Amino acid sequence: MPNLKFCKMKIIKAPYKSWGGIHPRYHKDLAADRALREMPLPELLQISMSQHLGAPAKPVVKKGDSVMQGTLIGEAAGFISANVHSPVSGVVKDVVPAITLTGAMIDSVVIEPDGEDKRVNDLAPLADWQAVAKKDLIARVAAAGVAGMGGAGFPTHVKLSPPPDKTIDTLIINGAECEPYLTADYRLMLESPERVWLGVSILRHILGAKTVRIAIEDNKPEAIRAMEQAMRNADGDVAIVELATEYPQGAEKQQIFAITGREVPSGGLPMDVGAVVENVGTAAAVFDAVFEGMPLIRRITTVTGLPLNAPGNIIAPLGTSYRALIEACGGCADTVKLISGGPMMGIAQAIDTVTTTKTTSGLLALGAPDVSLYESMPCISCGRCVDACPMNLVPSELSQYLEAEDYEGAEELHVMDCIECGCCAFSCPAHRPLVQHMRQGKARVMLKRKKK
Ligand code: SF4
Ligand code: SF4
Repeated sequence: MPNLKFCKMKIIKAPYKSWGGIHPRYHKDLAADRALREMPLPELLQISMSQHLGAPAKPVVKKGDSVMQGTLIGEAAGFISANVHSPVSGVVKDVVPAITLTGAMIDSVVIEPDGEDKRVNDLAPLADWQAVAKKDLIARVAAAGVAGMGGAGFPTHVKLSPPPDKTIDTLIINGAECEPYLTADYRLMLESPERVWLGVSILRHILGAKTVRIAIEDNKPEAIRAMEQAMRNADGDVAIVELATEYPQGAEKQQIFAITGREVPSGGLPMDVGAVVENVGTAAAVFDAVFEGMPLIRRITTVTGLPLNAPGNIIAPLGTSYRALIEACGGCADTVKLISGGPMMGIAQAIDTVTTTKTTSGLLALGAPDVSLYESMPCISCGRCVDACPMNLVPSELSQYLEAEDYEGAEELHVMDCIECGCCAFSCPAHRPLVQHMRQGKARVMLKRKKK
């Protein structure tokens, strides 16, 4: 354990207000008071090799192989990629392309659990982590396949390896969970605050960051109290920052600005302004990898929505089907829309056989009263989307460029800075499909850049 000097934990208000943002109805009450629970083991797990941002992992097992909990089944295929491990002991039934939450067909390893949870001990616990070289701690995080658990799933070892010319002085831990309905991070902070804090301590040690800020929205006072208690003996410049409840406070660039006043340049990364942002779930996964020698093989998913009989915060092994998650929550009636993630940034699903990944923070079932069908109308130039955009873009103008397939023009208007938060579409009285335009536009610009 670190040599801790006593100091009173500071709780401060965010000193800056980032621009834009909206106040949707949060619906967190559906699952917020449901304690974490493990679901019964599904009969089959289908573990995608695309669990994270970057290149999918390369399968390293074949049909008929026996695996244990923690056996490497997919090897990182490149710098921006992450290892994938078996969440259970059992037998590999197949290695086949399967549909993922984005609709892409990606190699997946299908495992039939034997229910015995025999564990492989490839990663020895590193309880005395402060005595371990930083590069070895980063190697451990990479070996354990830790990836960001709050957003796109950026492999964590990459974020922990900034180039030598970038000094990281500030580590921000994102516990905002601003997305409506979702309560996975909230329950984690409430039920395992020490695990989160020790993970933060390891991240801080690796990065050498002098300043640590735990960012939590002010609608989660119980989580703030739990973290305050876990961090009571923290030394140095450490504080909990209460963010105003506003969507999207959990977005990386908005959080950096709200806490430090630093603006990440267009096309830049947090490390360009001396900051790294990690999610609370990622911090807990780093703790598991280092202290317990446990790779990232399961996660908390909030399974919620009015049609569900028993919404909850479920600890599920990677590769669990959405159908099994819904069954673990008592089933649901009359769902007309199933969303992987939350209502703002989640992706609507056509089928419920898609399976969970390291980034599945939520599964949202919406019934008929929750879903409205609107006809899109021409823009009335009201400017609401401009006021709402947290990236300071002009969504109405961008949308017109993109409809006209003028991707160069859209690129000049910084379409690539769009974080696909949905604030513009949420605010638009003409029901313009603004986020869809942005997504399409970004994909086209990326394609053009790749061709070049
Ligand atoms: S989706 Fe993009 S354009 Fe729309 S508000 Fe969010 S960042 Fe701005
Ligand atoms: S909110 Fe909709 S109608 Fe208003 S300016 Fe933006 S795109 Fe046009």
